[in-house]
Amino acid sequence: MRKNIVAGNWKLNKTLQEGVALAKELKTALTGKNVNCDVIICSPFIHLTAIHEIVEGSEMKVGAQNCADKDSGAYTGEVSAAMVASTGAQYVILGHSERRAYYGETNAILKEKVKRALENHLIPIFCIGEVLEERETGKQNKVVKTQINESLFDLSAEDFGKIVLAYEPVWAIGTGKTATSAQAQEMHAFIRQIVADKYGTKTANDTSILYGGSANAGNAKELFSNPDVDGGLIGGASLKVDTFLPIIEAF
Ligand code: PEP
Repeated sequence: MRKNIVAGNWKLNKTLQEGVALAKELKTALTGKNVNCDVIICSPFIHLTAIHEIVEGSEMKVGAQNCADKDSGAYTGEVSAAMVASTGAQYVILGHSERRAYYGETNAILKEKVKRALENHLIPIFCIGEVLEERETGKQNKVVKTQINESLFDLSAEDFGKIVLAYEPVWAIGTGKTATSAQAQEMHAFIRQIVADKYGTKTANDTSILYGGSANAGNAKELFSNPDVDGGLIGGASLKVDTFLPIIEAF
C-alpha cells in the first residue's frame, strides 16, 4: 500500500552520541502526536543498532544510507545488506546522487544493491534524478526513466512493490533551490506512469514516491499536497528536531 513517508538522510553527520541524542529528542517530540506519515531516520551505519533500540515500539523506523553490492568476502570497508538488517534497520537508501557522483555507483551496480537489499528484507528507498544540465536541456524524463529501467525494471512486480522511490533533482540537493511544486508533481506523475506501463496501475498507485531536494518547513506542505508526492527525503533539515518536525507535521 502507498504510504506517506518522511525520511531523514543524515549523510556524513553526527557522532554516535550526537545521533543518539537527536533520535531521542525526535522520539520525545513525536510522542503523543498524531502523525500522518511514517518517519524514518537514515543514519550512518554505526548508529543503526543504537537508534533502532531507541525507536523500537514507536512509529519511527531506521534505515541505512547504503549497502554493499556483494554478500560477503574480501571487500574491505563494505557493509552488507544482511549486516544492515541485523541491526534492526528496515530501510536502505540506494542510488543517492552523492553515491552516484562521488563513489561511481552506476545503474548496474545499483541493480545489484537493490537485489541484495530485497533478499535481506530491507526496503530500498531508491533515488533518481537529473543534474542541472540535463534539466536545462530538457533531458530529465529520459534520465530518470533510464535510471529506473536499468536498476529496477528486471524486478518481479512483487519485488518492485516493496520499493520506495525518491525523486531528487540533483540541482536541488543541499543547494537551497527547491523544485517548484509543479515541477515535482510533473515528474512524480511521469514516474508513476512509467511504473504503470511496466507493472500496471495498481502497482504504480501503491508505490510511494518521495521528493528530495532542499525541502523544508516552508515548502513541505505545498510539495506534499500534490497527488503524486507521497512525502520527502530530507537532508539538511533532518539534522535538527526544530527543522525536521514541521516537515513531518506538514502531512
Ligand atoms: C538528500 O540528501 O537526500 C537531500 C534531499 O538533501 P537536502 O534536503 O539537504 O537538499
